[in-house]
Amino acid sequence: MQNIYDLTLSNLEEYFVRKGDKKFRAVQLFEWLYRKKVSSFTEMSNLKKEVIIDLQSDFTISSVKIVKVERDIDVHKYLFSLNDKEKVEAVLMNHDYGNSVCISTQVGCNMGCKFCESGRLKKVRNLETHEMVEQLLAIERDYGKRISHVVVMGIGEPFDNYDHLVHFIEIINNDHGLALGSRHITVSTCGIVPKILEFSTLPYQVNLAVSLHASNNELRNKIMPINKVYPLEVLIDALKKYVEKTNRRVTFEYILLSGVNDTVEDARCLAHLVRGLNCYINLIPYNETNHIEFKRSKKETILLFYDILKKNKVNATIRREFGSKISAACGQLRSKKEEDDEIILYD
Ligand code: SAH
Repeated sequence: MQNIYDLTLSNLEEYFVRKGDKKFRAVQLFEWLYRKKVSSFTEMSNLKKEVIIDLQSDFTISSVKIVKVERDIDVHKYLFSLNDKEKVEAVLMNHDYGNSVCISTQVGCNMGCKFCESGRLKKVRNLETHEMVEQLLAIERDYGKRISHVVVMGIGEPFDNYDHLVHFIEIINNDHGLALGSRHITVSTCGIVPKILEFSTLPYQVNLAVSLHASNNELRNKIMPINKVYPLEVLIDALKKYVEKTNRRVTFEYILLSGVNDTVEDARCLAHLVRGLNCYINLIPYNETNHIEFKRSKKETILLFYDILKKNKVNATIRREFGSKISAACGQLRSKKEEDDEIILYD
């Protein structure tokens, strides 16, 4: 049976028209689901009994459950269990400009980035649209405050689950629903070029972030296997087209890995690579993990790297650190849970 949170407003309109009902019923339903946030059809008190019975027999409602929360002052990290017992995670961050949630798009990930915990646990499956929507709804219920921003930077490669991602954006962006402004939604990709080009034709002004992490092909091939398929020159060329088409600035994420990509020469090479592209670079202190040998760069190294970018007239910021204490980097909670499970097994 289909889950109700899989449907866009126009899908629901079609459903009601097919049933011989009025189109506007879809708006009423959207408001119950996303404004009043009820968790059962029976609570939808302005719908006729027959409509509710139909909905109950045609759709399931919630499926995603919070199984663990780690809380710090400005960051809450959620572990979810899905219907098939698979686990994904999402992180809520409280900023001065609002509350943002980082959601997952896949169970595991196949991109194989060497520094990333998510890729250590291979992709099991794509998330359904409703499983992405429900991460937001469950967190909003738990946290009790409105989520104003969404970043698609959790476990998984969003462009490897493109259709569900676009559906998700359409649902959360709709004015009758969560009404998340498209400028408040950011999708991060490791650089799947055909999807970047497709994304540029969407009718939404969603932000695009690209995980770069290296400024030459030799290094990027080593740490991000996707680079062997879409090398830097092809990626940058696609991003130029993206900027031309959308008139929007691209964000690059660049994790600083000690002794790997953080030298003065790397910074100069990076500045050269992005010259002429409307972009800014987010420098990210690496969240170290037990299983991966990479180390974070020293503070002075990060500052020097930043200065060189600035001197070369590149827009750059150093990301404020969230949640390194509670292993909030992508994939870390899920992998910790599996470890806990392993420990229980050997108990
Ligand atoms: N697959 C997408 C989105 C998920 S990863 C992508 O590659 O962009 C989200 C971001 O977190 C990426 O930039 C990723 O490289 C980064 N990341 C992964 N592990 C990290 C870690 N341990 N510390 C800091 N950033 C990390």
